[in-house]
Amino acid sequence: MKTALLTHADCLGHVTPQGHPEQVARLEHILHALEGLDLKRVTAPLAADDDLLRVHPENHIRDIRSSRPSDGFAQIDGDTFMSPGSLDAAYRAAGAAVQAVDLVLGGEASNAFCAIRPPGHHAEAEKAMGFCLFGNAALAAKHALDYHGLKRVAVVDFDVHHGNGTQDLLWDEDRALVITSQQMPLWPGSGRPDETGAYDNVLNIPLAPGTGGAEMRSAYETQAFPRLRAFRPELVIISAGFDAHQDDPLANLNWSTGDFAWITAELCGIADEVCQGRIVSTLEGGYDLNALAEATRAHVEELMKAAR
Ligand SMILES: [Zn+2]
Repeated sequence: MKTALLTHADCLGHVTPQGHPEQVARLEHILHALEGLDLKRVTAPLAADDDLLRVHPENHIRDIRSSRPSDGFAQIDGDTFMSPGSLDAAYRAAGAAVQAVDLVLGGEASNAFCAIRPPGHHAEAEKAMGFCLFGNAALAAKHALDYHGLKRVAVVDFDVHHGNGTQDLLWDEDRALVITSQQMPLWPGSGRPDETGAYDNVLNIPLAPGTGGAEMRSAYETQAFPRLRAFRPELVIISAGFDAHQDDPLANLNWSTGDFAWITAELCGIADEVCQGRIVSTLEGGYDLNALAEATRAHVEELMKAAR
């Protein structure tokens, strides 16, 4: 079986103001970088409101729906904007994550990568923030638990920013383990090691500015991977942000493209041991266009090597 690639042209219709780092060109660069790879290409559906309601209350969904401007931009918070196409993009992004779970659990793909925007890991239950409207990774996890009946799902978030939204949405979900590494200090400021979830189901791994590949690998080998193996998830969801790359303009970690390949291969190895290799990866951040495209391709190539 192949690696699935889920995306939709609507995700290019989410436009942000000139100079905003979370720009249409990010996804264009990624899709160009993935051209020619032997992937199972899937057009992402719109999420159903029932998918969103697993992690967001109805009023949050209503607020986002009513915030969509008919032209220009609506500003949701300091750095989060909606254009006329943003609502469909957000529903496609969430729909991709849900569909990817269906494909992987249904045996139609070994693993999957969702090339989507807007990203999701900063969206809290009732608060869109940090370029994110809906919690794509968390709602995919809930779909796997509540719809497919899995007993344990892990989310691993290696975006350079703290996955505060995923942590919030899965804080009191004892069937989910959330592992998130982040530069600290850095926006949004949360992600301390003492934030451990209602059931000791959250593992935060702060990394000092300047942390390079060797220290990152050591942190994952000593903290993240043992917890992940011990939890024995039936599905691993990756919040794949590529802004820990040394070329990224929004943060100060020094990971190389090879480091993203390494962490992907390691996660594939663990998924192979514990859950028949079942991985759903969703795009989060990454703001240097060339580094983003290169690191994403390396990530997807590792998923492809692991596909069986
Ligand atoms: Zn980020």
